[in-house]
Amino acid sequence: MSAVYNRDEAAVRVRRQSRQPDPAVEAFREAILDKLTYAVGREAGSARDHDWFVATALAVRDRIVDRWTASNREADSGQRKRVYYLSLEFLIGRLLSDTLGNLGLTEVAREALADLGVDLDAVRAVEPDAALGNGGLGRLAACFMESSASLGIPAIGYGIRYDYGLFRQIVSEGWQREVPEDWLSFGNPWEFERAEVVFPIRFGGAVELAPQPDGTSRAVWHAAETILAVAYDTPVVGWRGRHVDALRLWSARAPDPIELETFNLGDYVGAIAHRSRAEAISRILYPSDATPAGQELRLRQEYFFTSASLQDLIVRHVRVYGDLATLADHAAIQLNDTHPAIAVAELMRLLVDEHGMAWEPAWAITRGTLNYTNHTLLPEALETWPVGLMERLLPRHMQIIYLINLLHLESLSKAGRMTDELLPRISLIDESNGRRVRMGHLAFLGAHKVNGVSALHTDLMRRTVFKDLHALYPDRITNKTNGITFRRWLQQANPALTRLLVETLGERVLDDPAALQGLVPLSEDPAFQARFEAQRRANKEALARLARERIGVALDPSALFDVHIKRIHEYKRQLLNILETIALYQAIRAEPEADHVPRVKVFAGKAAASYAQAKLIIKLANDVARTVNADPVVAGRLKVAFLPNYNVSLAESIIPAADLSEQISTAGMEASGTGNMKFALNGAITVGTLDGANVEIRDHVGADNIFIFGLTTEEVEVRLRGGGAKGEGAIAASPRLHGVMEALSSGLFSPEDTGRFRPIVDALTHNDRYLVTADFDSYWNAQRAVDALWRDPAAWWRMSILNTARIGWFSSDRTIREYAEEIWRVPLRG
Ligand SMILES: *Cc1c(COP(=O)(O)O)cnc(C)c1O
Repeated sequence: MSAVYNRDEAAVRVRRQSRQPDPAVEAFREAILDKLTYAVGREAGSARDHDWFVATALAVRDRIVDRWTASNREADSGQRKRVYYLSLEFLIGRLLSDTLGNLGLTEVAREALADLGVDLDAVRAVEPDAALGNGGLGRLAACFMESSASLGIPAIGYGIRYDYGLFRQIVSEGWQREVPEDWLSFGNPWEFERAEVVFPIRFGGAVELAPQPDGTSRAVWHAAETILAVAYDTPVVGWRGRHVDALRLWSARAPDPIELETFNLGDYVGAIAHRSRAEAISRILYPSDATPAGQELRLRQEYFFTSASLQDLIVRHVRVYGDLATLADHAAIQLNDTHPAIAVAELMRLLVDEHGMAWEPAWAITRGTLNYTNHTLLPEALETWPVGLMERLLPRHMQIIYLINLLHLESLSKAGRMTDELLPRISLIDESNGRRVRMGHLAFLGAHKVNGVSALHTDLMRRTVFKDLHALYPDRITNKTNGITFRRWLQQANPALTRLLVETLGERVLDDPAALQGLVPLSEDPAFQARFEAQRRANKEALARLARERIGVALDPSALFDVHIKRIHEYKRQLLNILETIALYQAIRAEPEADHVPRVKVFAGKAAASYAQAKLIIKLANDVARTVNADPVVAGRLKVAFLPNYNVSLAESIIPAADLSEQISTAGMEASGTGNMKFALNGAITVGTLDGANVEIRDHVGADNIFIFGLTTEEVEVRLRGGGAKGEGAIAASPRLHGVMEALSSGLFSPEDTGRFRPIVDALTHNDRYLVTADFDSYWNAQRAVDALWRDPAAWWRMSILNTARIGWFSSDRTIREYAEEIWRVPLRG
């Protein structure tokens, strides 16, 4: 089955049915064959799916290039303001479906390949995921690039071309194991290497103050080490192919491939040692999410891509406008979290030291150009760097940071706003545990706008981490609630639902998410409900096939699919869900004859390799799955599946098959979430806490169409402040939870190692920082309300349809429009 989204594709179908030759299909078929022969070097007879993938991608890329050049020419000649999105992560996933879909070429490609005896779906499946990110932050960057291109905004995404993306997760005997993700091993047909776009990136050494003829002095940085950043460009095609933007990723190279003198002395290994040190910078993505990655290599990565990106955009600006004084008028830079926050000091260095600008105008330009997005308030995830490390690696930047700090503190003293209590809180240097540079504070001071990613999160930024800076600069913080691109998360991921929507609402639903509202009156229509249910059923059958193939577990597509997929982190509370699963298991065993709603619990997610508790939670999910799935007493009522190697492609398979979306983080801890939006778009009903964007999802879909439970942010604050992190009380007060804890302690799920889950039991009992035990009963009750709704199919499908109908606001097109208007101040076309 395939989707037909627009007139071109409909025309292909009509011609196919009438067996007329189609010139578009013929041309594309010839283009693919040409690439297969001359670029891949294969004959059609011996080509494998992977060869066909490369040939198809190259043929598609050719179609993009002209539009890309046109988009660039138009941006330069029209003197349009450019947006630069700096992100250490881009979690892209596969590009073939997305690109074909946006170009309106899906049916043409399908037909062209079919003529050659090749199945498009098989070709799509062999594309490796570009997993250059850990989770939500990197996926947001990818959605933003697609939306910027779709809205015709001249944007460039800047990041690192990691040789190895996020690790591939293998689950072996229930434990996570990490293996390298070698996504480039067969080459990458989407990218263009720009061997001529190279910038030097310097580290270490010392700074000299060189006297100038006019009596002033100028800082000259004599660096100890120079590494080259080489650009690789991947085109990003917008919806309907109208506009193309670029993702420019930097790869590290040593300036001299080989030290010939050393080589000539016979030291062949030593002659290339410097090279592996240099190239280590872009070797691998740090696999941490909402946890610190504070090693020196990480700081080198951050500076490497930030400096290369700023040098590149300065060259572009000077080429078009001739003069850096106008940079802020023609460029807006967005810093995705603090990873590129060193941009504040680097832009000052480039303007003052390299381009001879005075400090004041340089600061005005920096502050007029940079903007910063905060993604987390978790104290352990706020980036700080030791002053000693900064001085050694980036001596000139440390001087600039001291000067920014001095001027900042002085201006407050002069204005009579400084107090002894305020000083240590607003200084760029945290003196409380060693001396460390606060990257969030640096980004705040250097930015025109600072934004949070949901209304609740932005409110918390104003009240907590940035309380003092916000009081001094009350106009700087603004909210930009996250969004997702509907092209990937609806059209590509769920063609069956998309087809139903187009047939029901017309094609404009593909261009305007507000059109989804047209479903509201249909939500109670039994015929429409039946069609809505049918597409879900087909998606569930497909997921059941996937689960059988990958983990050998049989899932019943008529059961309620209850899905919890995201990074494994204690604040995301997969543990709460597992405890409820155990309680449900015990309840079914206690009353096997009772009428229990059949449920399938689906989990997926990676744990940071160094995060022991998260890895133990994965083991627990798998041990519970092993016990439950083998127990004949609960057969037909409960199944548990942990699907390994969560990534964008797996999310695209799972989300359209979900009935229930688990968004149960501890209130106040999830900045926004975007998984929650993907599920609701596909009609899953949310069970969630009042956290992150869940609050706004509730406001949009209606409080009656979402299951909200648990402590609020304020209640969590009170508990944690009042030393309420012990779970003992809650466990003693809840016989059900007590029974679950007994089962865990007794080794019911780990008979071969009865003490295995002791660290989990201990943490919940004595130091329950995520308030799992406090929310347990309320979560249990919410789940039983979900059961009650499931027993009333008309009510269930009505609620499900209303979620799809009212989620349009969460399109990343809306988010990007807001950034464009309020932060970047770039005019939108049309
Ligand atoms: C959307 C997405 C995320 C973010 O999910 P949350 O539920 O918001 O944490 C992480 N990883 C992948 C692969 C995603 O597609």
